Amino acid sequence: MTRIFTGIDCLAHDAGYGFPESPARLERILGGFDSSWDVAEVSEHPQLMEVLETVHEPRYLEIFRRAVERGDGLLGSSDNPLTKETWKAATSAASAALSAADWAAEGNGQAFTAVRPPGHHAESKLAMGFCYLNNTAAAVEHLIRSHGFERIAVYDFDVHHGNGTQEIFYKRADVLFTSTHQWPFYPGTGSATETGRGPGEGKTLNVPLPAGTGDRDFLSAIRDSIVPALARHEPDVLVVSAGFDAWRDDPMGGMRLSETAFAEIGVLLRELADRVCSGRLLSVLEGGYDLDALSRLVRSYLRGSEQTA
Ligand SMILES: [Zn+2]
Repeated sequence: MTRIFTGIDCLAHDAGYGFPESPARLERILGGFDSSWDVAEVSEHPQLMEVLETVHEPRYLEIFRRAVERGDGLLGSSDNPLTKETWKAATSAASAALSAADWAAEGNGQAFTAVRPPGHHAESKLAMGFCYLNNTAAAVEHLIRSHGFERIAVYDFDVHHGNGTQEIFYKRADVLFTSTHQWPFYPGTGSATETGRGPGEGKTLNVPLPAGTGDRDFLSAIRDSIVPALARHEPDVLVVSAGFDAWRDDPMGGMRLSETAFAEIGVLLRELADRVCSGRLLSVLEGGYDLDALSRLVRSYLRGSEQTA
């Protein structure tokens, strides 16, 4: 069984006409879930700030919050515009990720967070690439700190490298970060030589793929490199940064995945989660900018990753 989690204020942040990371993305996704889907709309999670302060430097959180209060137009760069609602929307997305983590931790089946703004480019003290707070990293920390899990494995299949999630866990042995992404490409990180540091050495796995990569090579990379690495980490929970911009018509990416490929990715991750972590699977929405296809791609992925048992 799959439960979808969204935050009550995720639609509030609107950077204006023509900005690719728009409320319409989430409106389309939520609009695609008919009454046969289980969708939960959540408000602020009680542990939100405590968890965010482990993922981000408290000073960064303060700078972000104050910039919104002051009415600043940007946080760092033009990729991160601010409105009066940006803090509210970003914390709402992170809250939904924590609630989804609670649900997945209890072994109820798969949880999917339909949230925005996305999170995987946000580093511990830096907003980047439409991302302000790292929702995936917050879910991971919550699983470890509040639920007592010892090892978490993350797989990021967004077309862009999840530099933020990588940076946050780069020196950690308990969190494996793996990613397939177009490379060289934005944000510039994600080479195969980035493998972690100190206790985290060997706990980062990047599988960069060239522009134009299609279903066969993308799925082979998951099957041959990502899945075995995720399994070797013996995670308690599998956490997925699910971006849908490797889709062939996505305006922000240069890969060529079909709709079926997203279902296949779901099947591979479901099989893995059933095999190594009692089916505990949590997916967090990242990118995906083709408004006409996004909802179909998400549903295709979710059908693939439905609990089989
Ligand atoms: Zn992306």
